[in-house]
Parts: sequence; structure tokens; C-alpha cells
Amino acid sequence: MASTTNLAAGMPPDLVVRGKRVVTPEGERAAAIHVRGGVIEAVGRLEDVPAGAAVHDAGELVVMPGIVDTHVHINEPGRTEWEGFSTGTRAAAAGGVTTLVEMPLNSIPATTTAAAYREKHAAAAGKLWVDAGFWGGVVPGNTAELRTLWDAGVFGFKCFLVPSGVEEFGFVGEAELRAALPELVKMGAPLLAHAELPGPIDAAAKKIANTGDVAKRYRTWLASRPREAENEAIALLGKLAREYGARVHVVHVSSSDALTALRETKAEKVGVTVETCPHYLTFAAEEISDAATEFKCAPPIREAENRDKLWQGLRDGTIDFIVTDHSPCPPAMKLQEEGDFMRAWGGIASLELSLPSVWTEAHRRGYAVPRVAAWMSEGPARLAGLGHRKGAIAAGRDADFVIWDPDATFRVEQERLHQRHKLTPYAGRELRGVVETTFLRGRRIFDRGEFSASPIGQVLERGAV
Ligand SMILES: [Zn+2]
Repeated sequence: MASTTNLAAGMPPDLVVRGKRVVTPEGERAAAIHVRGGVIEAVGRLEDVPAGAAVHDAGELVVMPGIVDTHVHINEPGRTEWEGFSTGTRAAAAGGVTTLVEMPLNSIPATTTAAAYREKHAAAAGKLWVDAGFWGGVVPGNTAELRTLWDAGVFGFKCFLVPSGVEEFGFVGEAELRAALPELVKMGAPLLAHAELPGPIDAAAKKIANTGDVAKRYRTWLASRPREAENEAIALLGKLAREYGARVHVVHVSSSDALTALRETKAEKVGVTVETCPHYLTFAAEEISDAATEFKCAPPIREAENRDKLWQGLRDGTIDFIVTDHSPCPPAMKLQEEGDFMRAWGGIASLELSLPSVWTEAHRRGYAVPRVAAWMSEGPARLAGLGHRKGAIAAGRDADFVIWDPDATFRVEQERLHQRHKLTPYAGRELRGVVETTFLRGRRIFDRGEFSASPIGQVLERGAV
């Protein structure tokens, strides 16, 4: 991997990015990354800089593979007023995210047919500041579409086991999953599942007297989405993954109670993978003020004790990686004045803040930078089948880098974020880790607050990458 034998001969590379702290799959070291045609040609010693090559010297800053975020809601076409390819991917570039894979719901149409996929593709063209691919959806009645969606270029399929929040994207139960999974197994496609079941949520609703100020209290929202809903859904998914030999990925796990079952399932070599999100690793239910609906998401942010167990799940590999579930909406839908948790739109916007939010907490808990790269770049790239191109600084991969200062801190000023709507629960928070420069396929797309002249991101299609 670190071979330097081919570096001396021939033309100089287009670009050398070098620094004292380059994060490679073998760990962090001083290195010079040679880039040709947007791809990493070699990772050599720090002093291997051929005459005539353009050099970006990162000095003492960390040079990490660009972040890969496989859980992003862009909502275009159809709900572009919520977010959009232009604003969403600018936020990504500013946050060091160089690849995202977009969720099939909240846009209209939802990406549940090949025709809708083509609309999505057309809507993204010319607007991408980073590379982006798409997930398809498994919804009631679209089993016959799955193969054409897969052939069209989606990287896998998302489903909900509870109502999704939008009517165009219906939820599925065990019967629909039993219809879809054999198709997905034939393709080798992963199923990404929002893992909450309706039963425990319906039961919880009966116990909540939704009167007076009750809906303003965070603990009401928390009680309405009990851990059992997640635990039971994850048990069902494990069972089906085992039975069909399917690849099943649990998105945004929040209930730490489910980790024991996940640990056991994974130990049996069943094809289950797991993600969690920065907000579950950062915030705690006890600290969320009444009416602070910017913290609303599903499954909910749980107690501090639960958060510590999620970190333990990352430490021991039960949780494979961290992605944002960036899901903004117009601020009015958050009902900030009423502060009604039960009626406000659920979703947390954090795409631009994912690296500093995770690093702040990871650093506090004693983790080193390479672990963060494994959680935020390598792991998500593997889920999408992009591991041969994205997620690592190694020869043959795309020259996607985030160059950042792990010791600098900043206070989140939400007006300075690049997402369309600025509301975020991180507002005012002091975070550690400042993104300085982002490279996409060897080109500098973001540098200390400035973007490149035009968006150079590409639509990534399975089969073509
Ligand atoms: Zn989501």
C-alpha cells in the first residue's frame, strides 16, 4: 500500500497532498498522497514530492478520507423548500462530507420506482457540490419495481416498519418484507430499515394523556417512542436476515437495549449491520428543555445512560458506523412557538456538523482520529458498496479528503451554516474540530469558508462506479 517504488518514474502527479497526520487504513502517519486524474496514485513518505507537482501542505492538520454519509434527506424534487441538492451538498462540502447517499423519502415522488429514480437523477444534475448516490425504497406493492430500480443504479433499499411521516412512503410489515427480501437477496442488495414497530408505540400512546402542556415536555415524546418499539423491530429484522440470508442494515439505532441482541446476531455471522447518529451520541433526554422541538427525531434521543451504552456499542463493534440522518424542514413545521413535541416535524439537521459533533464526544471519551475515520468514512462506504472507491486514503481510491484541525474549537452559529434552514439543536454549542479544506476527486471544493467556482459533484450510480 505504501509502496514508493513507482513514484520516481514518469510525469509528476497532478497534485500532492501531504501532512504529518495522514489517516490511512493502517493508522495515522506522515505521508505524501500522490493524486492523478482525481484518484490516489500512491501514498508515499512525507518527503516524496516530485519536482513540478502542485503541493497542498496540510502541516500539522489531520488529513482524513472525505466523510461518507449514507443517511441524508435532501427532499428534492418535490419538497425542495425543505432542503435541496444545492444547499444540502454545500453544507456537506463545508463539513468535509465528500460522498452522500440520499434517502428515498420526503422527495416527491419518493424513489420507489425507476421513473422516480430518473426524476431524482435529473433534479440533482449540475447542483452537486459533492458526490451523491441514491437509495431506493421498499414500500407496499412495489416488489416488482425493485429489480428495475437496482438496475437503474440505486445502492440498496430503505423501508419503514412504522409510518414514515409522509404519505407517499408507506410502511411495511413482516408480510411485505417476506415478499421483498428474496428479491433483494438475488440482487445482493442491502435492506436499510427504520427499526421501530407500531405495537409498542400504539400501546404507549394509550397511556399518554395528550392534554394541556403535556405535549411540550420532552419526556412525553420520549415516552411515546419506547425502547420496546426498537427492540422488537430489531429482533424481527435479525430473524428475517437469518432466515433469508439477507443483508439487513439497522438505521439510526437509539435503544441501547437492542445492542445485546445485535451483538448475538452478529456473532452468528448473520448479515446485519448497524448505524447510529451524532445526536444520539451527543445529547441526553434529561438535558432537553420543554418545547425544544429542534431535538425531536424518531427514534428519540434517550437518557445519558443510554448514550454511554451506544458509545460502548461503537467501541466493541456492535454499531458499525455513524451517519447523520440529516433531515431538515421549514422552521414553521417545528412548531417552535407552541413547542408541541407530538405535532412538530421530527428530524435533525446536522450534515455540516457531523465531524465536529462526533469528534467532540469521541475525543472526550479517549478515542483517536483513525477510529473516527473508520466510523464516518470507511464504514458507510462499505454499506453502499463504495468501499473500492470511497472511504479510505489508499492507492486506487478517489482523492477525497477532509483536512481539519482536531484541537481547534468553535461555537455553532446557526446563521453561518449552509443548509437551507438553519435550525439545529447544535446551535450555540461549543464543538471541537474545525474543517479547513475539502478535496473531491483531487479538486479543492471548500477552503476556509470559500467554495470552488462551480459544483463538480457527480451522481454515483451502482454498476457505474
Ligand atoms: Zn432518515
